[in-house]
Amino acid sequence: MTQVIRTALRVEGIVQGVGFRPFVYSLATGLGLGGLVGNDVDGVFAEIEGPPAAVGEFLRRLEREAPPLARIERVTTSVMPPAGTASFTIAPSGPNAPDGRRGTLIAADTATCADCLRELSDPADRRYRYPFINCTNCGPRFTIVRDVPYDRPLTTMAGFTMCEPCAAEYHDPADRRYHAQPVCCPACGPRLALLGAAGEPRDREEPLGGDPLERAAELLRDGRIVAVKGLGGYHLAADAAHDDAVAALRARKHREDKPFAVLAAGLAAARALCEVDDAAAALLTSRARPIVLLPRRPGAAVAPAAAPGNRHLGIMLPYTPLHHLLAGAMAGPILLTSGNVSDEPIAYRDEDALARLSGIADAFLTHDRAIHIRTDDSVTRVFRGRPLPVRRSRGYVPEPVAVPSGFPRQVLACGAELKNTFCLAKDRHAFVSHHIGDLENVETLRSFTEGIEHFRRLFDVDPRVVAYDLHPEYLSTKYALDLAEVDLVGVQHHHAHVASCLADNGWGAGPAGPGAGGGAPVIGVAFDGTGYGTDGTLWGGEFLIADYAGFERAGHLAPVPLPGGQAAIRQPWRMAAAYLDGLDGLDGLDAGSLDVTRRNSAQWPAVVAMARKGVNAPLTSSAGRLFDAVAAVLGVRDAINYEGQAAIELEQLADPAERGAYRAAIDTQEAFQVRAADLVRAAAGDLTAGIPPAVIAARFHNGVAAVVEAACLRIRERRALTTVALSGGVFQNMLLLHQVVARLESRGFTVLTHSRVPCNDGGISLGQAVIAAARDRLGLSAPAAES
Ligand SMILES: [Zn+2]
Ligand SMILES: [Zn+2]
Repeated sequence: MTQVIRTALRVEGIVQGVGFRPFVYSLATGLGLGGLVGNDVDGVFAEIEGPPAAVGEFLRRLEREAPPLARIERVTTSVMPPAGTASFTIAPSGPNAPDGRRGTLIAADTATCADCLRELSDPADRRYRYPFINCTNCGPRFTIVRDVPYDRPLTTMAGFTMCEPCAAEYHDPADRRYHAQPVCCPACGPRLALLGAAGEPRDREEPLGGDPLERAAELLRDGRIVAVKGLGGYHLAADAAHDDAVAALRARKHREDKPFAVLAAGLAAARALCEVDDAAAALLTSRARPIVLLPRRPGAAVAPAAAPGNRHLGIMLPYTPLHHLLAGAMAGPILLTSGNVSDEPIAYRDEDALARLSGIADAFLTHDRAIHIRTDDSVTRVFRGRPLPVRRSRGYVPEPVAVPSGFPRQVLACGAELKNTFCLAKDRHAFVSHHIGDLENVETLRSFTEGIEHFRRLFDVDPRVVAYDLHPEYLSTKYALDLAEVDLVGVQHHHAHVASCLADNGWGAGPAGPGAGGGAPVIGVAFDGTGYGTDGTLWGGEFLIADYAGFERAGHLAPVPLPGGQAAIRQPWRMAAAYLDGLDGLDGLDAGSLDVTRRNSAQWPAVVAMARKGVNAPLTSSAGRLFDAVAAVLGVRDAINYEGQAAIELEQLADPAERGAYRAAIDTQEAFQVRAADLVRAAAGDLTAGIPPAVIAARFHNGVAAVVEAACLRIRERRALTTVALSGGVFQNMLLLHQVVARLESRGFTVLTHSRVPCNDGGISLGQAVIAAARDRLGLSAPAAES
C-alpha cells in the first residue's frame, strides 16, 4: 500500500489577483494530488494530499513555476492527517480575519503580456485590436483599485458588467482570465472616444469614420497634439520627428528645456534612436516598462526640441494595448509627456484633463475606464548593468520594498518637499508611494494627503510612528506635526538619504549588527541640492558616519552663502558670485575679467554684498550649488528653468576622455571641511588660460570624485570603516557616479548605490521609515505635542 501524506501550506507575498490559485490547481492535478487551495487575508492557503514524492515535487515546483506576476515572499508548511481526498478543488475565499485585519499585497500595473499581444493582432480573436485587452498575467492593477479585497466591484471596472463569454473565462480555472478582475471585451468593456479640443465628440463626423485610434494617429501625423488617456494619467502626444509639433507642445506646455520622453514601437525602433545594451533592453521590455534614459544616436529621427542639448533620450516601449495600437498606427516614434502645464501634477480625471489640457491638446483620445489614482511613468537609468531609478512610480508601485529587519510598530514617513513620495510600513514591508511631485501647491498637497489615506486602507496600516524631515517649512513636515496620538521622529535629510541607500541594498539583513535594527555603521556620502541641517544651516555636501539609528557629521563641503535663497537656486550665476567673491585676487584671479561677471554685471555687486553681509544669504554646504557655480563660470547656464538643469548640462559638456582632476584641500579638524572653492578657482583659472570648457567640466567632475575619495580615506584612517553608501540627487550624474565608484573601489571600499528607490528626494521616505523603526526600537520616538 502506498503511503499518503497531507501537507498544509501558506503562501505569502503577491499571490492574489495574479492567477495563483489556478496555478496551484493545475500543478496539483497534474501530479495527481488531492486537496484544496484558497485565498484569505494572509494570502493563499492550500492542503496537498498524495504520495510523499509527488508532494515534494509539488513543493519544489511551486516557487519555480509560479505565475509571472506572483512574488512569493514566504512558504510555510505543516503536516496534517490525510483526509482521503483524491480530487482537488478551489475553495471559496476564506473568512475575513476576526479583527478585520487585511494583509494581502496588490500587484503593480503590468505591461501587456505576449499572449494578449498575440490575440490583439489576431483577426480571428474576439479581442482583435481591442485597446483594453488584459488577462491574469497583465493589465491595470494599482491604478484601478479603489479598495481591497482586490475584486472587480472595488475597482474602476465595477460599472462594466461582464458579457457571457467574458464571464465564462472569468469563472474557468483552466482559463488565462480566471479571476482576472479587469477582464473585458469589445462587447462589454470600456471604449475609446476621440474628442475635439473643447471636448466635443470627433469620431463620428470625421472622414476616417468610427476608429478613434486611426483618427488620433492621423492627427499626430498632421503635426497635431493629442492628449491620450493612459494607465495612470493623461499624456500629451506628438509626432516625435515633427519639429513644429514638438515646438508647439513646448510652447503650450510652458516647458522650455526639460526633456520629453519618446515612445518607440519596439526594441528595434528604440535601437534606431539610442544605444541600447542588454541591461537597458531588459529594463525597456520589463513588466514595469519604465522610461529608460539612454545615449542618443547621432542623427536619431527625433526633433531636436524633444531633448534640447541633451546627449540622452528617455525611451519607453508600449505598455498598454492602446499604446501598442497607437505606436503601430504611427510610422515613427511618438513623443509622450505628462498631461500637465509646467510643474502641475499630471491630469488623470476626465473633466479635469479637459479643463486643464484644452489649451494644449488639439484632440483627446480618451475612454470610459476611470483611473483611480494618478501614477506617473517611472524613469530609470542603467548603472553597471543595474537599474538606477530616477522616479519610481507606475509599474513598481505599490509593490513593497522588503525590509528584513522589519518595523516593530507601523510607520508613516512623510518624505521631503521636492519629488515627494511617502512611505507606509509594517512587518517586513515598506510601501513607498507613487511619485507625488513637488509639494508646492494645493493640488499636489491633496494628492499627498489622499494618497496616504488610500495606502492606509489598501495595506491596512494604522501608523503609530510618524517620521518627517527637519525642515520646518516643508508641507510634509507640517502635515506630520499636525497629527495627533502618534509618536514623532524628526529625521535629518541627508541621514535619510544614506539610510534609504542602506535599505535599498538590504544592509543589515543578516544577524543584527551593532546598530539597532541591524546594520553596522558605514560612511555615507550624501550630495544633493539642499536639506535642513541639525545646526539650522542648509546641508548638501555631507560625509556622514551613519547607521539606521543615528549619524555623526564626519565632514562636509565648506559652507558658502546662498545669496537670495531660492533665487540662488534658480540663478546659478549667484553661486558663481558667492564662490568667486571669496577667491578674488587669490593667485592672480580677477573675477571681474570672467564672462560670468560681465554677463551679470548689473546685479553682481548687489549679490556679492548680500553674500558678504549674510542678508538673505543662508550658509550652505550644498554639492548641487557647487556644480551650479562651475556651470555658470563656464557659461553653461546662468539661470535654470527646471531643477538640476545647470548640473545636467555641465555633465553633458564634460569630455569623458579627459583624465585630469582638480584638487581641493581638506582641513585637519576632527569634523573636516573640504575647501570646494579650490575647484571653482581651478576652473576659473583654466578658463582664463584658454582651456576648452569641455576639458574644464571633466576636470571638475574628476576633482569632485577625488574629493569623495580623499574624504572617505580620511574617515577610514580614523574609524576603520570600509563601506561607503552614495546617495542624494547629485549622484544621478552618471559621469560623477562612475568616477566616484571606480576611485573608491580601487581603494578597497565596498560601495553601495541605489537600484530600487531613487537616490534623489524620491527615496527619502524609505530612509525616514527605516530610521524611525530603528529609533523606535531604542525608545527614541517622541509623543506628538498636545495641541
Ligand atoms: Zn495578458
Ligand atoms: Zn466581454
